[in-house]
Amino acid sequence: MDKQLILPYCDLYAACLRDESRTVGHADSVSFPRSEDEVRQILHALHEAGTPVTVQGARTGLAAAAVPRGGHVMTTGGMDRVTGLRQENGRFYLTVQPGVVLLNLRKMIAKREFDTAGWSEASLTALEAFRTAPAHFFPTDPTETTAAIGGMTACNASGARSFRYGPVRPHITALRCVLADGQTVALRRGQHFAQGLHFSLPTAEGGTVEGDLPSYTMPRTKNASGYYVAPDMDLLDLFIGSDGTLGVLTELELALSPLPRISWGATVFLPDEEAACRYAEAVRSQVKCAAAIEYFDPGALDILRQRKAQGDVFATLPDLTVAGDGAAVFTELHCDHRKEAMAALATLGTLAEQCGGCADRSWVARTETENETLRHFRHAVPESVNSLIDQRKQAYPTITKKGSDMSVPDGRLLEVTDMYRRTLAEEGFQYASWGHIGNNHIHVNILPRDMDEHARAKELFRRWAAVVTQMGGAVSAEHGVGKLKAPFLTIMYGEAHIRQMRQLKRLFDPKMQLGRGNLFAVEDEA
Ligand SMILES: Cc1cc2nc3c(=O)[nH]c(=O)nc-3n(C[C@H](O)[C@H](O)[C@H](O)COP(=O)(O)OP(=O)(O)OC[C@H]3O[C@@H](n4cnc5c(N)ncnc54)[C@H](O)[C@@H]3O)c2cc1C
Repeated sequence: MDKQLILPYCDLYAACLRDESRTVGHADSVSFPRSEDEVRQILHALHEAGTPVTVQGARTGLAAAAVPRGGHVMTTGGMDRVTGLRQENGRFYLTVQPGVVLLNLRKMIAKREFDTAGWSEASLTALEAFRTAPAHFFPTDPTETTAAIGGMTACNASGARSFRYGPVRPHITALRCVLADGQTVALRRGQHFAQGLHFSLPTAEGGTVEGDLPSYTMPRTKNASGYYVAPDMDLLDLFIGSDGTLGVLTELELALSPLPRISWGATVFLPDEEAACRYAEAVRSQVKCAAAIEYFDPGALDILRQRKAQGDVFATLPDLTVAGDGAAVFTELHCDHRKEAMAALATLGTLAEQCGGCADRSWVARTETENETLRHFRHAVPESVNSLIDQRKQAYPTITKKGSDMSVPDGRLLEVTDMYRRTLAEEGFQYASWGHIGNNHIHVNILPRDMDEHARAKELFRRWAAVVTQMGGAVSAEHGVGKLKAPFLTIMYGEAHIRQMRQLKRLFDPKMQLGRGNLFAVEDEA
């Protein structure tokens, strides 16, 4: 090894032991590679002893996937360069290292300014074209803009706009990934396919990884549960959503999309959850330019009301007295013509009235500043819940909120939300729900008041996992499975398919080093 890349763990690196799930792990050593070559050297050094390796991006994940359970922690946040730009058939593709943070990526794309040191001539030529082309953007928006692209790819992140643009998956067109033994796979969309469920993948070092894909059928819903597998699949997709278990992503190519000329938002207030579901379903089928349809239940609005009253950074939140005791649905509209946006706004008003809301009390955002206020509002919900739980941690240091991430197919939204409400009431839990109602994907967040409620919340989620699976849904729609949802994955796919997944992982990672505890419960890994 050229320099000391693997450092013994000490308290200085305490931040590397946790992610936004607020779970805390432990580690023996850490590393902060700056290049693919350093990643390779580190993995190579750890491979012989079979040391467990937990890969991290920005640690904003909510499934404890980046939380180490001993062994080594590799933080890829220092690999944060944009390394090139490509233009093909009028589209632009940006090549980035995995540690590029979404917020910075957005700024660079919006300003069309990149640090071009080391860029090829072809990239510089593409940049000239990019600067004169209509504006572009990277659509994936997992709410938390400090997330890194590598982490977003590894858990197939989605967020609000996945209603229109899908998860991050279709926006990744190429990647490089270093395997546990230091070999590299380089994949470009459209180049390497499975034959049925069999695959054979060359490594850059002249090796081959060959074997069979698991035989389960993925749900027809928004899904980030376990490996993406399908007959004849593009093998690039295997690495997207692999939860840090197959290799370390070292480079990604992102397809940029033309920025819509109009981006407006409208928040509508409705009497209750059922009315909100009906409204969301109507918006989904009638408003063609809806890019996001997001939900806030009465509990979420209540928490925001309390935070606003406390008068800190949340004092700037819009006045929530308009909401009454009801729920709210936010719709983001993306289109190119004002006429279309105006017609969509009118439809939203009509649908709100039909569902028992009042169009006149809605919030409409037409300018960037107004849109920013609504974004702040959306982000404030999980932030407020986290700070409420932080207060409870003073009495119960290991308490965490229990956030669900399950999705169901179209037509099952009313049924699943009814089941959530009924069982939450039976348990007497405090909770707040919000999220991606347009995708039938609502995050129910139970806020346990003590450790007994904490344990019961976990049990309730297991019951929900079974019901959602029966409905044809997914136990994780966007946060990935990580460690916290591994038991639900077994419920969703069953033991036999979990064994197949583990066999697949062994083909890439024979010593089961990477992402230990993710996807598979630890005892399964022996
Ligand atoms: C307030 C808040 C709101 C959120 N809302 C959403 C939302 O709406 N939608 C959504 O999808 N997510 C949401 N998230 C979750 C989170 O932001 C995303 O999951 C994000 O994609 C994680 O990125 P990260 O860089 O922080 O990854 P990390 O947490 O660091 O890691 C996540 C996973 O990726 C793996 N990984 C990281 N880097 C690499 C790499 N280079 N190679 C291989 N594996 C790697 C890790 O091992 C781990 O398995 C939210 C989080 C917060 C805090």
